[in-house]
Amino acid sequence: MPANPWTICLALLLSSILALPAFAAAPPLLLTHVAVIDGTGAPVQADMTIAIAGARIAAVYPSGSRALPQGARVQDLRGRYVMPGLIDAHVHLTGAEPDFAHYRRHLRALLLGGVTAVRDMAGDDRLLGYLAREANADALASPDIYYAALMAGPAFFAEDVRAQEASAGERPGSAPWMQAISATTDIPLAVAEAKGTGATALKLYADLPAGLVRQLAAEAHRQGLRVWTHATIFPATPADAVAAGADTISHSPYLVWAGASRVPDDYRVRAMGDFAHIRPDAPPILALLQAMKRRGTILDATLLPFQQEAEHDPAKVGAGIMPWSYAVTRLAHAQGVWVDAGSDSSGLPDASHGPNLRALPEVHAEMALLVEHAGFTPLEAIRAATEVGAAAMGQSARRGTIAVGKLADLVVLGADPTRDIRNTGSIVLVIKNGRIHRKDAPRGLPRAPEEGVNQPAAGTAAYPSVAPGRTASLARS
Ligand SMILES: [Zn+2]
Repeated sequence: MPANPWTICLALLLSSILALPAFAAAPPLLLTHVAVIDGTGAPVQADMTIAIAGARIAAVYPSGSRALPQGARVQDLRGRYVMPGLIDAHVHLTGAEPDFAHYRRHLRALLLGGVTAVRDMAGDDRLLGYLAREANADALASPDIYYAALMAGPAFFAEDVRAQEASAGERPGSAPWMQAISATTDIPLAVAEAKGTGATALKLYADLPAGLVRQLAAEAHRQGLRVWTHATIFPATPADAVAAGADTISHSPYLVWAGASRVPDDYRVRAMGDFAHIRPDAPPILALLQAMKRRGTILDATLLPFQQEAEHDPAKVGAGIMPWSYAVTRLAHAQGVWVDAGSDSSGLPDASHGPNLRALPEVHAEMALLVEHAGFTPLEAIRAATEVGAAAMGQSARRGTIAVGKLADLVVLGADPTRDIRNTGSIVLVIKNGRIHRKDAPRGLPRAPEEGVNQPAAGTAAYPSVAPGRTASLARS
């Protein structure tokens, strides 16, 4: 009897189902005697055991309260701390590198710096799609990657070199991931094209009127995409973005426009708000924060890039931008608005020729700013970079906290980050999808879990210094 293709399919399906118990029976990895910071903001739980089966967390319990499973691989992490893998909720990976070969090292540096997922907020989706498929299938030692397709007004694409570079080969504004939107745009088609890039969300950027923001957000949600916007999309106001149903709004300083008497239709003034005269607690801004809290809109604060700009290129930002941005972020947090941690960079500090692969990822510095200037406790800053980051990407069900059933994406620390937030940099090892990655591991993806966890980590990265120069990627808000 000739082999029917369906019979072959069925046989393959059956054999793969039959093969599953073999994976399920693989010995669990146990992290024992470790202090757990679960990412929800809950206090540290001392002397816990985390059981990892395959890629997921199978159990979390006080050490010694259960018998060791047969054949378990045990990593005694006495004296160590574990937190969920960090999520940089605002990166721009593409454009920062001279060629493709560098991405492998760049992504690996992010992973070994404790970052197990990133949200890319606009770039070249041809490259991002490829990197995300490789990373998210665990074929690359990399954070998982979720990315946006950008939409803005036609004027933006006519003049913005970053957007032109990110869609090189396409007419400006016509690439599915860099679309110019106007009153005549076929919105369902535009959103479908954006979705076709593999993007998780639309990023609404620069210069769109409130009516278009509303239509695009509704259509994106209808088609199963999330909606990530700039806090002000000139002339659409922060209140317009929130009312349209934005899932996240980016950049604390742009909230100033919620208190302005009018929002110009020129997005180039976005960082030049009247920080001297508009109070962060002005009634319209408080009303906005309350609406965000009510609707669950996440504030993607990105304090770091503005702090760097205020320090190194103050003419490009409004006077008083940082005290104002810290104050409004503090207020948002106090009101119960969820705030994520995003660096608005390649994820790594800049060196003279691209990202500094030896430095700690910048999300650590963003967390430190939240603690040092915006009233977050260290546990709350860790939550911003874990549970809230996962929510920003629409990934709450799979990641962001240390809980049974979630991905075993974890960072083991040598020092207590609740004593000093900068101890998030004391990375001993990183676990992603249940596999251990260490700085001294050979390049490429280790196929078998590594042992010897308690050896001191080689080459622990120094706390990043602020680099003055930035690349010409879409990084920079
Ligand atoms: Zn950005």
